Amino acid sequence: MTRAFPPIERAELRLVRLPLINPFTISTGTMTERVFPLVTLSADGLEGYAEGVMDPLPDFLEETVAGAMDLIGETVLPSMIGRRFDNPAAVERLLSPWRGNRMALATVEMAFWDLWAKWLDLPLGRLIGGAGEAIDVGVSLGIGPIDGTLERVERHVAQGYKRIKLKIMPGHDIALLEAVRAAFPDVHLSVDANSAYRLSDWAVLGRLDDFRLDYIEQPLTHDDIADHAVLQGRLRTPVCLDESIRSAGHARRALTADATRVINIKVGRVGGIAEAIRIHDLAAAFDVPVWCGGMLESGIGRAHNIHLSTLPNFRKPGDTSSASRYFHRDIVVEKLEATDGRMPVPEGPGIGVHLDRDVLDGVTLSVRSFAA
Ligand code: MG
Repeated sequence: MTRAFPPIERAELRLVRLPLINPFTISTGTMTERVFPLVTLSADGLEGYAEGVMDPLPDFLEETVAGAMDLIGETVLPSMIGRRFDNPAAVERLLSPWRGNRMALATVEMAFWDLWAKWLDLPLGRLIGGAGEAIDVGVSLGIGPIDGTLERVERHVAQGYKRIKLKIMPGHDIALLEAVRAAFPDVHLSVDANSAYRLSDWAVLGRLDDFRLDYIEQPLTHDDIADHAVLQGRLRTPVCLDESIRSAGHARRALTADATRVINIKVGRVGGIAEAIRIHDLAAAFDVPVWCGGMLESGIGRAHNIHLSTLPNFRKPGDTSSASRYFHRDIVVEKLEATDGRMPVPEGPGIGVHLDRDVLDGVTLSVRSFAA
């Protein structure tokens, strides 16, 4: 007889602020810290964790930390306490009335997956059908002076990272790529514009074919598919969509329109692990590879990303590089560090990492507890 999954006994919502070691600049602005909601769900003596990937202000997508804290804390978590959910699909049904807000809803869904995997005594990656003890990882380098970028490329190539992704924006694109390609003719290179260009920028976009890039990530508007299809029709280099894909429906529209030949899956961006798996499977049916993007996550979100990346169509290196590149001290006990471009999958049930309570308390801005 199968055991029924027990009711959710308690939940906790923290607001956490982790300073970044180095500011991270992309076309939309500069981050000096990560401020994010951290959700804990408790049942049967076990705890599941997840973090939100929204920014304080709506500069990546429309969601904000304040909006997520409100939706999670006022509506979602209170509705879960004392209730039984047989599986993640039951949690998805609970969350299904709410439009958009996929980053906020993902935070709860992912915490439940971690809890459920622990209850089943399985590593999350194994539970969803992944395999392997380590994943290939690359790095994403923020915008900065070309000289400094060349040094950072050299350092990360020497550390064995499998792909270097350069953030670009108008005025910081062709000269940068000429310098990097001249110094590193063979390195796997991609660029990410975070929606900084328009089709009218063809004078620059057309030249990107000259640099043997693995792909060009999200060059056009954050919610566009049609213009990306036009651009892909003109470029040899694959277009990779990130911001534009918030659901399997978006992925279907982009794949059928040939607007994307690579997909960056961010589990937080698409509403959770179940939707990330749907996008992964759909892309595989189109023979389109996927990879796992990063949002400068702490060890909690990083561990979720690593487990997701064990699925078979994650055929390109992800952004899940070493946590020590970002934080002096992480909020998890385990060190999530890549060696020679390979990141070990944390062992043990669930996401396989444990909160460092001392560090966490030191970076917690607020805590709300929910109990029956
Ligand atoms: Mg991106």
